[in-house]
Amino acid sequence: MTTPSNWCNTHRGPTDEVIPVAVIEANSGSGGTIWSCPDCVERFGIVPLGEQSPDHPASRIQYRDPPSKAG
Ligand SMILES: [Zn+2]
Repeated sequence: MTTPSNWCNTHRGPTDEVIPVAVIEANSGSGGTIWSCPDCVERFGIVPLGEQSPDHPASRIQYRDPPSKAG
């Protein structure tokens, strides 16, 4: 049995704390929640599910700003 409760889907690694950032709708079987750790939420400017606008599809991760800065 595996649970996503300690897995960051953004950096694909284990984490102590997770934040739901998207939900995959299950039309034909497996769906689920996309999780991200607080570090990735900060680093990539991801908008947590609870803060996303109602117009934004929950199946897509929403970003606060385009990743235009480098370095
Ligand atoms: Zn992460």
